[in-house]
Amino acid sequence: MARHPAGELDDADFQVVEAPRPAPADGQVLIRHLYLSLDPFIRPMMDPVRSYVPHLNPGDLMPGFGVGQVVQSRNPALPEGTHVSGRFGWQEYIVADPAALRVIDPSLAPITTAVGILGMPGATAHYGLLELGKPKPGETVVVSAATGAVGSVVGQIAKLRGCRVIGIAGGPAKCDHAVQELGFDACLDYRAAGIEERFSALTPGYVDVLFENVGGPLMDMVLRRLNAHARVVLCGAISQYDGPTSGIGVPAFEFVRQRATMTGFIISEHMAHWPGAFEELARWIREGKIRYRESIADGLRNAPAAFKGLLTGKNFGKQLVRVARE
Ligand code: NDP
Repeated sequence: MARHPAGELDDADFQVVEAPRPAPADGQVLIRHLYLSLDPFIRPMMDPVRSYVPHLNPGDLMPGFGVGQVVQSRNPALPEGTHVSGRFGWQEYIVADPAALRVIDPSLAPITTAVGILGMPGATAHYGLLELGKPKPGETVVVSAATGAVGSVVGQIAKLRGCRVIGIAGGPAKCDHAVQELGFDACLDYRAAGIEERFSALTPGYVDVLFENVGGPLMDMVLRRLNAHARVVLCGAISQYDGPTSGIGVPAFEFVRQRATMTGFIISEHMAHWPGAFEELARWIREGKIRYRESIADGLRNAPAAFKGLLTGKNFGKQLVRVARE
């Protein structure tokens, strides 16, 4: 990386550096890089902002997962010719310790899958959907970037779990693929007109699981149709990575970066909690450990004004109306 991008990526953000091929030390191997995986998360790493990993600085090697082949071995565990995968970065040759590598068996699947469905994106889909989304048969699952590395796997696993799957993708070709090849029940082309109406029509029973990859207005549209006790898995917000918001942070993506949780609840569904809470709160009041404050309007006739005041911040503490003198 030559410099931090200013908004959208530019060719001048990168530079090609030529250097001698590295030599493996005892116990290490030299790998020839065959396939580099390009993953969206690399883009936010280029911005100098707080994240779950240190951001890149000018002069750093562009990171990335890759698949390659051992061409020189100084470790008997990994003979020459072995296919391996790891965090290789954007470079042609890599020296690595075997502990940092995953051995790939080319007879099991094409080696490219080691950085796709049988690699980080596949694991992301499997963990995010099954462990966090917890889909149940018959539920409606919505996934954005539906034909991509992660989204395509999410939707197909959800189908295997007996869910109704609605994909969101850009353009008719991607949407046809989602339905005809991946077996989704429907796919919303967000590049065509009238998406809100079409999405409502596709989700008459609302949405039980949202697997979010894109963020922005499309995510808001799905959030407006969440079902009771829906699960929202915030996996990514790719629409916000490369552009004016890239450097200042995006609310939805901050949840991903900080592995944060947002939970909705309605206290009347948790009546068992009430008695213990009152006991503890009353004790804290008696002991002078917590305080409370009230605003009391006089007479029912003043209730509308006090209510309006509550909604505009005129109250100071708990708003009440004195209906009658004690
Ligand atoms: P994809 O293969 O899905 O490729 C990206 C896709 O994003 C595009 O094809 C495009 O599909 C869609 N997209 C939507 N809006 C935009 C936009 N404004 N600009 C560019 N692309 C857009 O990528 P991945 O499957 O690898 O990643 C999907 C998401 O998962 C990303 O947000 C990524 O950051 C996240 N992720 C998160 C991980 C985690 O650990 N939390 C791990 C791995 C990935 P379309 O045209 O259909 O909209």
